[in-house]
Amino acid sequence: MADELPFAVEAASPARIDLRTEYMKERFSLHPDWEWHSFKVIDHKGKRLEDWEFSSYEGGVFPNLITRGPRKGRKNYRKPMPGTEGTYVVGDREFKAWLPTWEARTGKCSVCQGTGQEWTGWSRDAGDRFKDCARCNATGKPPA
Ligand SMILES: [Zn+2]
Repeated sequence: MADELPFAVEAASPARIDLRTEYMKERFSLHPDWEWHSFKVIDHKGKRLEDWEFSSYEGGVFPNLITRGPRKGRKNYRKPMPGTEGTYVVGDREFKAWLPTWEARTGKCSVCQGTGQEWTGWSRDAGDRFKDCARCNATGKPPA
């Protein structure tokens, strides 16, 4: 438990494909362009380990861009496509159980998503930081 990244860190990169989003699209039959804009970790404080890690994602499809001001050109998260808004709860155990099926289907390592480069962090100044993926030894293929 202690060595796992919190969701906030893992999901902070805007450039990275978010496999939780891919999972939610499949699991809840969401629009192909669905994305989340905010999330929170729900701690159920259950007795079993698998009861602990749940997070809730709020999002929708946002085809409209901001037309004025300093954020001009960015997505307008206040104007979702009607009917696409929703909040979905993802269980960490369930999500991790889904990863091998994603790997089997895509032939890609789920840690680096086939790039061979593992994302290690993001900051406003430096952008994304990467290192060779330790799981697939930078091959991009899931280990046999
Ligand atoms: Zn990898």
